[in-house]
Amino acid sequence: MSVRERLADIRSRIERAAERSGRNPESVTLVAVTKIFSAAAIREAYEAGLREFGENYVQEFESKAPEVSDLTDARFHLIGHLQSNKARRAAELFQVIQTVDSLKLARRLEEAQGSIAVGRQLDVMIEVKLSAEQAKAGADPRELPELVRALRASKNLKLLGLMTMPPWSDDAEQSRPYFRRLHELAAPFALPHLSMGMSHDFEAAIEEGATHIRVGTALFGKRKKP
Ligand SMILES: *Cc1c(COP(=O)(O)O)cnc(C)c1O
Repeated sequence: MSVRERLADIRSRIERAAERSGRNPESVTLVAVTKIFSAAAIREAYEAGLREFGENYVQEFESKAPEVSDLTDARFHLIGHLQSNKARRAAELFQVIQTVDSLKLARRLEEAQGSIAVGRQLDVMIEVKLSAEQAKAGADPRELPELVRALRASKNLKLLGLMTMPPWSDDAEQSRPYFRRLHELAAPFALPHLSMGMSHDFEAAIEEGATHIRVGTALFGKRKKP
C-alpha cells in the first residue's frame, strides 16, 4: 500500500474519532513520524499532502534536512529527547521542539533561538512523564508550574502545550488514562495543545483531546532497525 492510500485510511479514522467525541477533525494535526525512514519517505508524504513531520534524533535529521530543504512549507517537529548541548542545532533544524523537559533545556533553547532568528519564536511543548515505566525523558508533573512560567516568560520560545508517550502497550485502552491525565494537567494552565497518540492508539488520544497525533508505522509501514 502506498503512503497516499494509508493516509486516506488514517484520515477517515481521525474523522470518526473526532466525530465520536464531538470535535472538529481539523483540530487534529497529523504529524508524520519519519525516524529511520529516508528523506524520500518525507517527500512521498509531502506529495500525499502532509506538511508536519516528526523526527527523533537531531543527528539523523541533520543528514536528511538538505534533501528536503525545498519543502519550504513543511514543519519539522523534534519528538525525541533533546540533550541541552544539542539545543542550538535543534533550534536551527526544527520548527517545533516537543520534548522540553527541564529549565536548563528551556534556557538553552531560549538563548539559541535568540541568536538564530531575532524576533521569531520557536514553538515548543513540554514533555511530561506520567509513570515510572516510561522512558526516563520527560518532566515530572510537579515541575510543570515552574516550567510553564519559565517558558511563558521566554522571549524567543512559544509554549504550545504538553506532550507525552505512555508506556508501550498494544492495547489502546491502556494508554487512555495517560491521555486523560495529560489533558487534566494542561487545563489549569489553559494550554491549548496536546501531543499524544501514535499508530496503535491515536483514536483514543483524539477522544481524550489530542491536537497532535504522531503517526509513523500506520503511514510508512514497519521501521527496520538501523
Ligand atoms: C516513533 C515514535 C512515534 C510513532 O510511533 P508509531 O508507533 O510508529 O506510530 C510517535 N512518537 C514518538 C515519540 C516516537 O518516538
